[in-house]
Amino acid sequence: MRELVINLDAIAANLATMRGHAPGAKVCGVVKANAYGHGMVPVALRLQAEGIDYLGVADLTEALELRAAGITIPILAWLHDFNEDFVAGVAADIQIGVSTIAQLDLVAKAARATGKIAQVHLKIDTGLSRNGATMAELPHLLRAAKDWIGQNLIKVTGIFSHLSSTDAASDLIQIERFELAVAAAAELGIHPELRHLTASDGSLSYPQAHYDMVRIGVALYGLSPFTNHTSADYGLIPAMTATASVVQVKGVPAGEGVSYGYLYRTSADTNLALVPVGYAEGLPRHVSGRASVSINGVSHHLASRIAMDQFVIDVGNHEVKPGDTVVIFGDPATGVPAADDLAAAAETINYEIVTRMGGRFKRRYVGQA
Ligand SMILES: *Cc1c(COP(=O)(O)O)cnc(C)c1O
Repeated sequence: MRELVINLDAIAANLATMRGHAPGAKVCGVVKANAYGHGMVPVALRLQAEGIDYLGVADLTEALELRAAGITIPILAWLHDFNEDFVAGVAADIQIGVSTIAQLDLVAKAARATGKIAQVHLKIDTGLSRNGATMAELPHLLRAAKDWIGQNLIKVTGIFSHLSSTDAASDLIQIERFELAVAAAAELGIHPELRHLTASDGSLSYPQAHYDMVRIGVALYGLSPFTNHTSADYGLIPAMTATASVVQVKGVPAGEGVSYGYLYRTSADTNLALVPVGYAEGLPRHVSGRASVSINGVSHHLASRIAMDQFVIDVGNHEVKPGDTVVIFGDPATGVPAADDLAAAAETINYEIVTRMGGRFKRRYVGQA
């Protein structure tokens, strides 16, 4: 009765499209946060089958879940607890993004415990001010890395950073700092084979900054990383369609209040359709009165208050019956609302819309597994 239909062929096509935008660079497919709501394991398995070079996740729990599901390609995880135990991660050949000397020491300790050489990617804070070593901390992190390399406990496979995507001027400063960081590493004899900086947006905006690998998240799911560009502008195909069945239709008179707070009142004798999706499924309550859904190819305003489990649509005299499919968002090329439309109505970004979809939605995969 509530379905997120995930088109794996669209994800494969989006990978090919993004490879075309970054020729020569490896691609790290970012599947953190349950693959932005698309279901981490099925998405990762398809990306692996498509020959993607790397998978990226935020934390080790996600990385280990991928290994358990049969992912054998390189996995990078970059966000860790302050006292993270890296033993299981190193044992499973998870590559570790390292921001601090304390983390590096814990990784080296885990390497010693497992008898493996841990592969690390040094995370540099070039100006986002999130994780990563600042340019001031960098020399110390590099020296610590050098020590552990000397003891055969770590290998610096990568060096990376992340842009703020504020504007070109700010991003170009970050690109410059990234080059300084790479040069500082080289001065100490550290030559990581993978320099990587750009996510979806930077990969589209700064071809000069693709380096050895690009980390692509949102574009793989067919969404534009920019609010002033659509998916279609880049040839991307939205992979998620959020649907539900109409569960009840009833006639009501003019002047009837609908749902909590009577945000909407019928203006004529009409029909109401009940849809079993609410904010528990991730549909933002804030879009009440601000968004539309599609039923049988007709757009209907979501005029009444979205509740925890359900919302009600005034379908007027349109032919709508229980069992009909309601598309909440999907690929706008098929005439349904886009995740971008819902994002605009919720005053957020498409990333948040797809990632927050969950609750009692069931995911169904279409396309080759
Ligand atoms: C989430 C994330 C990405 C992917 O970003 P998109 O904008 O979705 O492509 C890349 N790198 C890092 C460090 C991230 O946290």
